[in-house]
Amino acid sequence: MSTVIPIRAEQSTGCTDVVPLIERGQREVFCGLTGIIWLHRKIQDAFFLVVGSRTCAHLIQSAAGVMIFAEPRFGTAIIDERDLAGLADVHDELDRVVNQLLNRRPDIKMLFLVGSCPSEVIKLDLSRAAERLNQIHHPAVRVLNYSGSGIETTFTQGEDACLAALVPALPKADASAPKQLMVVGTLADVVEDQMRSLLEKMGISLCFFPPRKSHDLPAVGANTRFLLAQPFLADTAKALQDRQAKYLPAPFPLGLEGTTAWLQEAASEFGVSPQVFEQVTAGPRQRTEKALAVHRQMLQGKSIFFFPDSQLEIPLARFLQREMNMQLVEVGTPYLHRQQMAKELAWLPAGTRISEGQDVDLQLDRCLKDKPDMVVCGLGLANPLEAQGITTKWAIELVFTPIQGYEQAADLAGLFSRPLKRREKLAA
Ligand code: SF4
Repeated sequence: MSTVIPIRAEQSTGCTDVVPLIERGQREVFCGLTGIIWLHRKIQDAFFLVVGSRTCAHLIQSAAGVMIFAEPRFGTAIIDERDLAGLADVHDELDRVVNQLLNRRPDIKMLFLVGSCPSEVIKLDLSRAAERLNQIHHPAVRVLNYSGSGIETTFTQGEDACLAALVPALPKADASAPKQLMVVGTLADVVEDQMRSLLEKMGISLCFFPPRKSHDLPAVGANTRFLLAQPFLADTAKALQDRQAKYLPAPFPLGLEGTTAWLQEAASEFGVSPQVFEQVTAGPRQRTEKALAVHRQMLQGKSIFFFPDSQLEIPLARFLQREMNMQLVEVGTPYLHRQQMAKELAWLPAGTRISEGQDVDLQLDRCLKDKPDMVVCGLGLANPLEAQGITTKWAIELVFTPIQGYEQAADLAGLFSRPLKRREKLAA
């Protein structure tokens, strides 16, 4: 007999019509440059050249410094500390840095110029610079640009901006090409391999975006159906829709339920029979359910508060509440994209406090008053909250760690149960 928990079929609309608490004050979030740290693992022949200040160089070095092998994959062209009259020089300087880089590194096939905050950079038209450099270095290198500026982006929006910039470079799919599934969002290779294996066993032909190499850019067109693997890709989704690809709205592949529903969306679109779906997913679902039970013992009944950070908050809250029986105190998100979150919102219990944006002082006051067992937040808030006796989880860890799909569901639960276990031990 199967021990699998079926996807609940209740008719409740949960938080579908939620009116979030909207806050527009000071926020404590990394900027979009941070995305480079996980994006460089994909498109392995790409280079990210941050056009920015010493602060940007420090951020990117200290955030990625631990990953020594990543260093040949990004750099910073420091162009602040110049006055307006020096703008012409800035273009020359940028050309010089890029020429030097590409001469030294013939392995680079794709170059992203990544914009940042300093006013000198904002005044510099990076899309024109990219066009100019493209003409110079074509066809050996493709030069693209996007903004990772902290004024315009929070940390996961850097990936969205990067992928959205890449969509126009995708080849056009032949109108007579068979229907193909595109999985969109940077995933760890191990997760990608598992998803590929499950979907191919169902007979679905698929590709991943971003690809592992720049010459593997997938074709896109009216026969493309795409699933988002990450919940922070609104601009990328729009750019793909502009190229006639059809979006398959699904919950995100976090946890047993989320992964099953995500796969189910593809299966329905590609006409996979319920028997084949069951055959392919029954084994992994049973293993996942068993592995999750261990963590449920530690997590159930515990309360959790999410500060807005990665945009993963709503799917994570849904997983922790429905599968781990945790209590949601507040679910903060930097942006609430209702269309992409529709299925997730419907799965959250009605009345959940959802906040959009941030006024960090007000939110800290609410959090300290609520005294949750656990808080998910950025690095800047974790230490002060820990000092107040609250167990924290760094949001950024959830972006770095492979957490999607069946085989990673227990690891995802473990990211929450381990710190609680540690605190219990310390308190004993
Ligand atoms: Fe650079 Fe702006 Fe990010 Fe600071 S917030 S590191 S100045 S892009």
